[in-house]
Parts: sequence; C-alpha cells; structure tokens
Amino acid sequence: MFRDITTLLKDPVGFRVTINELVKRYTGVKIDRVAAIEARGFIIGSALAYQLGLGFVPIRKQGKLPAETVGHDYELEYGADRIEMHVDAVSKGERVLLVDDLTATGGTAGAACKLIESMGGKIVECCFVIDLPDLGGRARLEKQGHKVFALCEFE
Ligand code: IMP
Repeated sequence: MFRDITTLLKDPVGFRVTINELVKRYTGVKIDRVAAIEARGFIIGSALAYQLGLGFVPIRKQGKLPAETVGHDYELEYGADRIEMHVDAVSKGERVLLVDDLTATGGTAGAACKLIESMGGKIVECCFVIDLPDLGGRARLEKQGHKVFALCEFE
C-alpha cells in the first residue's frame, strides 16, 4: 500500500502542524544544513529549513542536478539505484539533518546518509513524516548508527 502525504499537504492546518512539530523538535539543535531526498522530501525539508533559518541541500536521482556531483550507488529489492548531491553541498564537519517524507526499508535514507558522510558531513538525525516500522527502515538506519525520528507510524 502506498502511503500518500499529498492529502496532508493540501490541508493548510495539516501542513502547518506537520512543519511546526518538526520546527519545535529541531529549534535549538546545532544543525548547519537540511538535506532532503527528492521529491516529496523537498516539500517537507525546504519548509523546515526555511523556518529554522538554515540552507537546503537537494539529494536527487542520477543526472538531475546541474553542477558537479558526488553520488552513492545502492541496492534496491529489484536492481540498483544512485543518488547524487552537488560536490560542494556539504563540507567536512557540517552537521546535516536528513529529511524525507517516509522511510520504508531505509535503503534510500541510508544511502543519502552515506553520501553525506562521504563528504565529511555528520548526520544529526534522519527525520520523516511517516515510518513504516514493519519494513525495517528505522532499525536499519539505527544499525548504521543514526538517530531516527518520525512524526507517525503505520503498520
Ligand atoms: P525505502 O528506501 O525503502 O525506505 O523507501 C523510501 C523512499 O521511497 C522514500 O524516498 C519515499 O518517498 C519512497 N516511498 C516508499 N514507499 C512509499 C510509500 O508508501 N509512500 C510514499 N513514498 C514511499
């Protein structure tokens, strides 16, 4: 079953409450950048970065970013994929909050963390609107050494 946040986003109260809850969680936390995974992660991540007064880093599928990129290849259930960010998006020692709409197996967010870490960034936390715990994303990311936060869970 596909969990869809567009119904949440089109509701002005739902969207505002979602972002406000995340702003509350991360206000006062030392974060240098918010990085988010295309495409729905951009919606949450950019609103959050704006409210926190932080810069925003887009992480995209292969070939979508205009300037020089670094990438990370990762395995999917069927096949492989690659995510990329600009080579100058994250500097050594910067503290990065990773945002996406949802974690399922944790493969995408785990790959994004590895990409950020490959440039010397430190992951403050992996932040999602939705976690599907049965699919093991949180466990996988925690095993990778990351903190994980999700606003809600669905079986
Ligand atoms: P994972 O890599 O298996 O954790 O899948 C997470 C990625 O796929 C995220 O970028 C999500 O946006 C997307 N995704 C996977 N399943 C769903 C779903 O049920 N609803 C919305 N997005 C999903």
